[in-house]
This record gives sequence, C-alpha cells and structure tokens, in this order.
Amino acid sequence: MDSSGLLRLRGVVKRFGTFTALKGIDLDIAEGEFFTIVGPSGSGKSTMIRLLVGMDEVSEGEIWLRDKRIDQTPANLRPTCMVFQSLALFPHMTVGQNIEFPMKIRKEAPAKRRARAEELLDLLRLPQSYYDKRISQCSGGERQRVALARALAFDPEILFFDEPLSALDYRLRKTLEKELKDLHARTGKTFVYITHSLEEAMVMSDRIAIMKDGQFEQIAVADQIYSAPVSRFVAEFMGEVN
Ligand code: ADP
Ligand code: MG
Repeated sequence: MDSSGLLRLRGVVKRFGTFTALKGIDLDIAEGEFFTIVGPSGSGKSTMIRLLVGMDEVSEGEIWLRDKRIDQTPANLRPTCMVFQSLALFPHMTVGQNIEFPMKIRKEAPAKRRARAEELLDLLRLPQSYYDKRISQCSGGERQRVALARALAFDPEILFFDEPLSALDYRLRKTLEKELKDLHARTGKTFVYITHSLEEAMVMSDRIAIMKDGQFEQIAVADQIYSAPVSRFVAEFMGEVN
C-alpha cells in the first residue's frame, strides 16, 4: 500500500439496503491539507464523512490512516474529530468546562487542562475572561469558536466538518470562513470540510472534490476546477457560484 498520504480510501462502497450511496471511492488526502468535498444535497458527502470518523461502517473497501487500517476501528479510538453543524456544546457548562471536556475524559490533570484551555482560547482569539462564561451567554460566532477549541482539545490528527456554517447568516459565515482558513494555517492540522457551497470551498480549500451521486466527478485545486471543469455537471455547479 502506498503510504504517501495521511488518509487513504480504497474502493470504499456504502450501501443502505439496495441503494448504493457511495460507489467505490478512491482518495488520498495529504497531511496538513485543507480538503473540501462539495456537491449537491444527497450526493453522499455526509455518508462519506460518517465512515471516516467511524459513525457508520463501510460496506466494502478500506480506509487507511498513515500505516494503519482504520475502517474497523471504533470511532472513539480513531484520532479524528467531527465538528457538527449543530455544535453540540453543553449549554449549562462554562466555556472552560466545554473546552476541557475531552481532556477530562482522558483524565488529564486539572492544571494541565486549564493551561491547554487557555492556549486554545488564545488560538481561537477568545478573551481569557470567557473561561468562566456560560455557553448560553455566548453569541453564535463565539459558540462556533468554543466548539472549534473543544474539537482541538481532542488533539485529533484530522478535523472533519460537516457543513458547520450552513445555518448561519451571510456575514457571520464570511467571518468564520476566514477564521477557519486562518485556524488551519496556524494549527497545521488536516481539515476535511464538507459544504454544498462551492463559493465557500473556493475561499478556503487547497483541493476540492466535486461529488455527484456517490462518486467524485473531479478532484483538483480550486483554480483548476474553475478553469478546466471536467464535465458539464462541474461547469454548471461552478455557474451557481456567480
Ligand atoms: P449529502 O450529505 O451529500 O447531502 P448524504 O450522504 O446524507 O448526502 O446522503 C446520500 C444518500 O444516501 C441520500 O440519497 C440519502 O437519502 C441516503 N442515505 C443517507 N443515510 C442513509 C441511511 N441511514 N439510510 C438510508 N439511506 C441513507
Ligand atoms: Mg450532508
């Protein structure tokens, strides 16, 4: 097995009964890459990310992380973390308690947790005073930042995002797009990002994969997708950006 990529999929198929949602996916994602999967609703994006984080099982094929095959590894033992659209923070807890939650599960010492939480507040550009603030007192944008800080507290090798910004209004979305891109640059982590917005993908990504009916139509850097779409489908999807 070629081991140049961080994450590799080989012949990944996902069936739900007689319906095939993913039709044999081959993919290599490099370490540190901001990789975006874009495609219309129902094309299989969420299904694919659920297989990658271990929330669902492959029907066929293999998923490799470095030199380890992980498609049979339970979700909690994979070094990956999903950031959800719904954020799923604990509203009754403080920002600090939310960020420290993953470290508490790992039974890290309180002083170490606190120090890391403070680092993560800085990284997400949240004031240190927010440590004791309740989630219910935070704005939408602040909650998004806390959710990102908490995801990073898991210290994952790969962060997965399933349309995290789609429920937000346009201005906040634009701000957070910039912040996510910036966070990616500052952490050096591998980000795998799903969106149905090609515009969002173009702003943030190193490479973009266009998904249609459970298969990739094209995988390329943003410019190339724009200048040399491989199919009418991609060209038309591009057209929706303008
Ligand atoms: P996307 O995230 O691109 O909108 P999904 O991955 O959610 O698409 O869904 C891809 C296809 O698989 C859809 O046709 C959807 O109805 C189907 N699907 C997803 N999850 C299930 C499931 N648990 N059972 C049956 N069909 C499913
Ligand atoms: Mg989806």
